[in-house]
Amino acid sequence: MTWQAAQARYDHMEYRRCGRSGLKLPVISLGLWHNFGGDTPHERKRDIARTAFDLGITHFDLANNYGPPPGSAEEAFGDLMRTDFAPYRDEMIISSKAGYGMWAGPYGEWGSRKYLIASCDQSLKRMGLDYVDIFYSHRFDPETPLEETMMALDHIVRSGRALYVGISSYNSKRTREAAAILKELGTPCLIHQPSYSMINRWVEEDGLLDTLEDLGIGSIAFTPLAQGMLTSKYLKGIPEGSRATQGKSLKSEFLTEETLNAIRALNAMAEQRGQTLAQMALAWVLRKGRLTTALIGASRAEQVRDCAAVVKNMDFTEAELQEIDATTVE
Ligand code: NDP
Repeated sequence: MTWQAAQARYDHMEYRRCGRSGLKLPVISLGLWHNFGGDTPHERKRDIARTAFDLGITHFDLANNYGPPPGSAEEAFGDLMRTDFAPYRDEMIISSKAGYGMWAGPYGEWGSRKYLIASCDQSLKRMGLDYVDIFYSHRFDPETPLEETMMALDHIVRSGRALYVGISSYNSKRTREAAAILKELGTPCLIHQPSYSMINRWVEEDGLLDTLEDLGIGSIAFTPLAQGMLTSKYLKGIPEGSRATQGKSLKSEFLTEETLNAIRALNAMAEQRGQTLAQMALAWVLRKGRLTTALIGASRAEQVRDCAAVVKNMDFTEAELQEIDATTVE
């Protein structure tokens, strides 16, 4: 039987305007960096994606290299588009990116026009889509002229491959330069995707958040849960099957006694607020409406449910914010 999305899917999620654009995004977006590759069973991926959409999570974030192996997350997502989500395409915002190593040789990474356009075409093919909603330059390329990278993004929009463009992990200075070029080309920068969490605040120190506000660019924070560290999952040791056991991007060495003590203190605060630590970490990133959306990953549908319920309590008192700073800022 054909899958049908929940009738009530728009009843609880909050949507925020992405910068000064016409586009709104859900405060929780779902990323497919881990947990969507060839090493994850199809049923689990399907369950995660369906659960997200049923909860009003309309935004799915991918990149050419998500897997493992690279490309397999886009392929798996393409399968689900065909079997489940095709009727809902106009209710979805699907993103992809290029910037990191994807294929051999000098044209398989960074920011040349050659690489970005070829990679975008490959992503569309893997996902079986005519266009993506947002296409990103995944990282600043110090060797390619910024004009070339931005002109490639502009071309990707003008040729119908994407509706909007974004940049990821560019610092404040480079963001201003990129945004100025894009503005002149007539394809405004819609969104910036930096890492940001209670324990990773470079976007504040660098002035990036102020820059984005000033330029009217939206923002989507990746790894807002610090890859799972800002949840209750590591409080009693490292559970089997968790990311810290997989030897990929989250190393068990990150979980020092000092970090665990901070996580325990944050967990106690979250309990006092009547929410899970994951929810508090997401609410913190989204506080005062400063960011457009928090981009989570999930290895189980249950985690998506837990994260989406952040909308029940996103306010902090000044005293709570100070306590979080005292616990997490050195
Ligand atoms: P998170 O910080 O959200 O970490 C996700 C992990 O946290 C999950 O895999 C799971 O760990 C755990 N988790 C999630 N929800 C819960 C919960 N409610 N309770 C307990 N544990 C939970 O983000 P990611 O590191 O996955 O990154 C999110 C997305 O950001 C990526 O998918 C990608 O789209 C994007 N990204 C972009 C980058 C860029 O350069 N632009 C770089 C990195 C990410 P476990 O698997 O152990 O169960």
